[in-house]
Amino acid sequence: MKSLAIVGGAGRMGQALAEGLHAQGYTITALVDVDTPRELFGARALASLNELGDGHVDAIIDFSSPDSVVTSAEWCAAHGVALVVGTTGLTGDQRQALEDAAKHVGVVVATNFSIGAALSERFAAMAAPYFERVEIIELHHDKKVDAPSGTSITTATAIADARRHAGEAPLTDPTTRRTIEGSRGADAVDGIKIHSIRLPGLVAHQEVLFGGPGEGLTIRHDSFDRRSFVHGVGLAIEHIDATPRFVEGISSFLA
Ligand code: NAD
Repeated sequence: MKSLAIVGGAGRMGQALAEGLHAQGYTITALVDVDTPRELFGARALASLNELGDGHVDAIIDFSSPDSVVTSAEWCAAHGVALVVGTTGLTGDQRQALEDAAKHVGVVVATNFSIGAALSERFAAMAAPYFERVEIIELHHDKKVDAPSGTSITTATAIADARRHAGEAPLTDPTTRRTIEGSRGADAVDGIKIHSIRLPGLVAHQEVLFGGPGEGLTIRHDSFDRRSFVHGVGLAIEHIDATPRFVEGISSFLA
C-alpha cells in the first residue's frame, strides 16, 4: 500500500480522509496543517511540506486552501511525488500551477471525489441535449467559504459542452424583471444558472433540474458524510504515480 501525506490534514476533509485511507491500509506518513490535527492515525503532524525532509511518500493529498495548493504543486514537482487535489475555489493562476506541476509528476484534480457525484455529472451530460432548459441547485454546510461549489461549475460546464455538441444555443433567461437582484442565481456558463444554498446540517448536495415540454427530470446527489469522498481519492491514488500526467475528475477511473 502506498504512503501518503495529507495537506489540510487537521481540517474536516483531511481528518475524514486520514481515517478512511488509514482504515484501507494506506500509510499516512504526515498530516500537514497550520492547525493541530485532532487525531493522527499514525502520522506525524507537520506545519509545512518542507518539514517532510527525506520521509518518502508516494502521493500528496491536498484538501486545504487555494494558496496552499500552489505550494503543494511546486513541492511535488520538485520532489517527483504525485499529487491529488480536492481543494476548490482555485483561481486561473492556481490551476495553472497544477498544470505546470503535471509536466513533472502525475496530478489529479477533482472538484468532487464522490462516485455518485461523478456519475450524476455523467448522467446530466447525457440528458442535456434532450431538454430545453436546465438549472442547478447546490446545497452545502454553512462553513463552506466558496460559492458556487466547484462541483456545480464542473457540472454546468459538462452540460454546456453536451448542449453545444448537440448544436443547442446558449440559454437566455426568460425573466425580464427581477424585483430583488440576484433572485435568479448566478450565470455559470452558456446561461446555465446555479443557485447556492448554505445551511448547518448539510454536507454536500446537488440537484440538476431539466425541463422540457410536459416533463421534468431531476438528478440529485447527496453526500451525507465526508466518507463519500474517500473511495474516489483512493481511486486517484491508485491511478497516478510520478509519471507526468494531468487528470481532471475521477470519471476516467470509473469503468
Ligand atoms: P477545513 O477548513 O475544515 O480544512 C482546511 C484545512 O486546511 C484547515 O485545517 C486549515 O488549517 C488547512 N490549511 C489552510 N491553509 C493551509 C496551508 N497554507 N498549509 C497547511 N494547511 C492549511 O475545510 P474542509 O471542509 O476540509 O475543505 C477543504 C477543501 O476541500 C475546501 O476547498 C473544500 O471545498 C474542498 N472539498 C473538496 C471535496 C472534493 O471532493 N473535491 C470535498 C469536500 C471538500
